[in-house]
Amino acid sequence: MWLSLVLLLVLLLLAGVRRVYLGLFAGRSPNPFSQDVKRPPAPLVTDKEARKRVLKQGIHYIGHMEEGTFGRFILDQITEGQLDWASLSSPFDTVVLDMPSGRKEFPMYSGKKAYIEGLKEKFPQEKDVINKYIKLVKVVADGAIHALLLKFLPLRLAQLLSKCGLLTRFSPFLHASTQSLAEVLQQLGASPELQAVLSYIFPTYGVTPSRTTFSMHALLVNHYLQGAFYPRGGSSEIAFHIIPVIKQAGGAVLTKATVQTVLLDSAGKACGVRVKKGQELMDIYCPTVVSNAGLFNTYEHLLPESARCLSGVQQQLQMVRPGLSMFSVFICLRGTKEELGLQSTNYYVYFDINMDKAMERYISMPREKAVEHIPLYFVASPSSKDPTWPGRFPDRSTLTVLIPTAYEWFEEWQEEPQGKRSHDYETLKSSFVEASISMILRLFPQLEGKVESATGGSPLTNQFFLAATRGATYGADHDLDRLHPYVMASIRAQSPIPNLYLSGQDIFTCGLMGALQGALLCSSAILKRNLYSDLKDLGSRVRAQKKIM
Ligand SMILES: Cc1cc2nc3c(=O)[nH]c(=O)nc-3n(C[C@H](O)[C@H](O)[C@H](O)COP(=O)(O)OP(=O)(O)OC[C@H]3O[C@@H](n4cnc5c(N)ncnc54)[C@H](O)[C@@H]3O)c2cc1C
Repeated sequence: MWLSLVLLLVLLLLAGVRRVYLGLFAGRSPNPFSQDVKRPPAPLVTDKEARKRVLKQGIHYIGHMEEGTFGRFILDQITEGQLDWASLSSPFDTVVLDMPSGRKEFPMYSGKKAYIEGLKEKFPQEKDVINKYIKLVKVVADGAIHALLLKFLPLRLAQLLSKCGLLTRFSPFLHASTQSLAEVLQQLGASPELQAVLSYIFPTYGVTPSRTTFSMHALLVNHYLQGAFYPRGGSSEIAFHIIPVIKQAGGAVLTKATVQTVLLDSAGKACGVRVKKGQELMDIYCPTVVSNAGLFNTYEHLLPESARCLSGVQQQLQMVRPGLSMFSVFICLRGTKEELGLQSTNYYVYFDINMDKAMERYISMPREKAVEHIPLYFVASPSSKDPTWPGRFPDRSTLTVLIPTAYEWFEEWQEEPQGKRSHDYETLKSSFVEASISMILRLFPQLEGKVESATGGSPLTNQFFLAATRGATYGADHDLDRLHPYVMASIRAQSPIPNLYLSGQDIFTCGLMGALQGALLCSSAILKRNLYSDLKDLGSRVRAQKKIM
């Protein structure tokens, strides 16, 4: 009985592998990574007109950008090496536990050895737990390829494998995708304070320790383990250097051009998009439509009614929900980073080591009370991370603060026009801005009298400028449901609508690197090539070439 079941599974697996090879990789589409296009970075373009059409977004720090990493290699290829990276100082993050009993700081140093030593110095009694934790983080994060493979397998096979429980048995990553971060830290025997410190990075994916998976957490911790980086010239550099490459390949990039609907032909296949440019509506026809607008926008708003209710679409929508929204505060300061004593280090400030409880209590509060119980602040100084900043703005510095928020607190103003919302909306926003400034002055007392201006961005601001559904900072919630192997297998670039593909963070995970995986998966599916192996081949050729020289 068991033998026949195993045989059946092996046969199914082989059939799947054959289909993957024949269907996906045997195509004759051109290889976009056939040659190394990296060239020495040209001087920074600072002219405002030249940069006008570039979208600005709030990237704070990226890991794995040192030379020789896969992340750096792919970004070099898609920007022809024009996107340059500056490393953050070490510690790249500092966790602050600001308790009634006093304030403690926990630095996260760049480099695995320094990172571990930093933790052990603060928790000398828990050295074994820290060793076990880091070992597990590495094993789990290194197995993330299994989640990618799952998306390459034929859908039914991937779903079957995940249903029969085999995947979690053999893949540490997929196993950790069914365990919460809190559960794993408790199993490791970490003290409550160590649990809090090890969980500190959850705002980068937006889900508290008992609701997120250990796999998501391990990906992020591993991502920054060697240190963190910031785009030289600011985060708009990312789009600024990708756009020319798209244009060279015959593409065009339009801004302020909202897609209103995906056009379907009489057979229900995607055949183009209807775009609103100014007051004009334009229908653009194409054989393949790729949506990077996110799962919710695409399925709930861009599909015509007839396609929206297809069972495949509804099934995917039921698997996920929009994630947490963050309130942003942008602060301008008088003075250079040296004068103000600012660092490129990010600060995560917490007021309760029970992060789940503090967040639950806060999010369920009425909005007038919530501001007095903010459980965490993320504080970063973008100007201090960018070596080109002083050349452009010699006597000013910036800080950004992120605070978790509930969309519901702002929902009643969603129909009012952006920039002209009622007084009560502005009052609520101001209360978060003021709370941030008083926290900043507690954290950095030397900034007293240096704040020139401060503005706030609510979940409605995210919705307006980033088209983020319900203001969600990282797209679909990275909770235990979303990372479950069955859901990972089911939500993929190929949509239930023929010729419509999805890309970006909802296809894999959030973050620049997560969204890039979504793009690679999507391009692989359309081109019927394995772009991961194309990149690997190119990487080997480049390394061999370097050895000869
Ligand atoms: C404040 C903030 C800080 C962050 N910090 C970091 C960080 O430090 N490091 C990191 O790695 N990640 C960070 N992230 C996450 C990262 O920015 C996202 O995960 C990533 O940008 C997702 O990429 P994407 O291409 O999937 O989606 P997006 O970058 O959201 O792109 C989707 C695009 O689709 C457009 N769109 C939507 N609907 C339509 C439509 N109907 N018509 C036309 N266009 C449409 C939107 O305008 C948007 O430009 C941060 C996110 C935020 C909001």
